[in-house]
Amino acid sequence: MSADRAVLEAALERGEEEGGNVEFKERLSRDLHLADGRLESLAAQLRHRVLSGDGTATYVVGVTDDGGIAGISPEAFSESMDVLSILAEEAGAHIADAETWGVGDDGTDGEDSGDGIVGVATVEEGAVLDVDEDHIVVGTAGHVDHGKSTLVGSLVTGTADDGEGGTRGFLDVQPHEVERGLSADLSYAVYGFADGEAVHMDNPHRKSDRARVVEESDRLVSFVDTVGHEPWLRTTIRGLVGQRLDYGLLVVAADDGPTKTTREHLGILLAMELPTVVAITKADAVDEERLETVEREVERLLRDVERTPLRVDRHGVEVAVEELGDSVVPILQTSAVTMDGLDDLDAMFRRLPKTATEERADFRMYVDRTYSITGVGAVASGTVNSGSVEAGDELLLGPMSDGSFREVEVRSIEMHHHRVDRAKAGRIVGIALKGVDEAEIERGMALLPADADPTPVRSFEAEVMVLNHPTRIRDGYEPVVHLETVGEAAIFRPEGGQLLPGDTGTATVEFKFRPYLVEEGQRFVFREGQSKGVGTVMEVGDGESGGSTGAEDGE
Ligand code: GDP
Ligand code: MG
Repeated sequence: MSADRAVLEAALERGEEEGGNVEFKERLSRDLHLADGRLESLAAQLRHRVLSGDGTATYVVGVTDDGGIAGISPEAFSESMDVLSILAEEAGAHIADAETWGVGDDGTDGEDSGDGIVGVATVEEGAVLDVDEDHIVVGTAGHVDHGKSTLVGSLVTGTADDGEGGTRGFLDVQPHEVERGLSADLSYAVYGFADGEAVHMDNPHRKSDRARVVEESDRLVSFVDTVGHEPWLRTTIRGLVGQRLDYGLLVVAADDGPTKTTREHLGILLAMELPTVVAITKADAVDEERLETVEREVERLLRDVERTPLRVDRHGVEVAVEELGDSVVPILQTSAVTMDGLDDLDAMFRRLPKTATEERADFRMYVDRTYSITGVGAVASGTVNSGSVEAGDELLLGPMSDGSFREVEVRSIEMHHHRVDRAKAGRIVGIALKGVDEAEIERGMALLPADADPTPVRSFEAEVMVLNHPTRIRDGYEPVVHLETVGEAAIFRPEGGQLLPGDTGTATVEFKFRPYLVEEGQRFVFREGQSKGVGTVMEVGDGESGGSTGAEDGE
């Protein structure tokens, strides 16, 4: 694993000092450090370091007391992280991040020359943000600058915006965080309810504040700013497919009104079968008449896609909560500046049930990223789609490009940078695999139980909706299809020869280069240049189909 060495250098330079927040440890072992008496004193030391660092402590592992680089085996490092996480838990903290470096890389000698590593773990105050049964995850969507981040910022803090985006900074996920696909970083804006009262964040930038909200609340609501960035598509895929959202929150600014992007985002939220709420925000910035006009435009937009708009100001929150679903979309007028309408949103989020369900009991994970750890080997990471996985499990990995599946064994599982015995659906994990080289694993492959009998799929029938296309989609149209973690060129053959923008129809979709594991009911997004659309897998073929190509639609 390579990472910017500067983090390590900085920690070593600051050094271990009395009253500081840096601690050097050569290694932590279960036998020695978790023994009676020892555990308590180490947890107290950790607590002290965290407090000294205003909620954050840095543990440098694999170094001697005076900061000399010793280097330890990856197994010893992993055990050290396990022990550290137990100490942290005892001290009311958690490991927020960990990075490792090989000591051999720069000529420094480790005890275990070659394989030794040294690592830096960041320990933060508070419990880890855990996704409990009652925790709902809301994905925001809408045109840029329409006020998504501001609205969410005002909701989670309970404070008004100054009209210049004062609260939105809380919500702006950095693109690199999105790229790294860290769920913890994506579900960063959270607030909760305890005994019916909102539990707000004081300062969402402080993770310890988030931990407090998690602790105090008996109902949590977190927000993922799904489509705020370009390229929005990738983010959307992660947001909507990877993160298991419960609801969509579509934001429309009252001054601009609905735009092409609004329409597109609505299409995606609905195609992903996300029950959706529309917030017409910036109500303070326009007059009554304009607000009415925009509300009617939103209603029309919803009727165009066969949904029933429900005005919350007329029908009330109770009815909205009850009716919200596949066909009914509540609309609220809000302002982050005056806080109008936010109490209604609160009231809805306090009551809305969790909707994301597990469709399958068997273990399934689509590989998102791969890496290799010295001494451990190939690691495949991704979100566990369904079921659970345990160290020692025998799995199938594939399909390989020839359609075959490979037998592999789970060597170990890492979650939040520490080793766990078992991981269940919804978790982002790294699974170290025996029986395969890292180079053989590709994004889009799936891991599933050894007794599964998966069929590699080269082509499938789909119901597709064209959100946006300059002309029409013809036989031979070749977009990139994003399904689970698969991102692959495919050839479309619409039934009846063509599909017009705004149309819903069926098409045969054929992966251009290789098969993947595809199942009925899976949703996907496709894109090619300006054109975008969404689809649902209706029926899977058995793979090998002819390769004739029709004419590409001229763009
Ligand atoms: P996003 O791109 O959709 O996340 O939009 P932002 O949240 O960044 O908001 C864009 C701009 O609109 C900021 O300058 C906000 O201060 C402003 N804004 C957001 N909500 C409101 C509101 O309710 N009223 C007014 N007057 N301005 C708002
Ligand atoms: Mg934003």
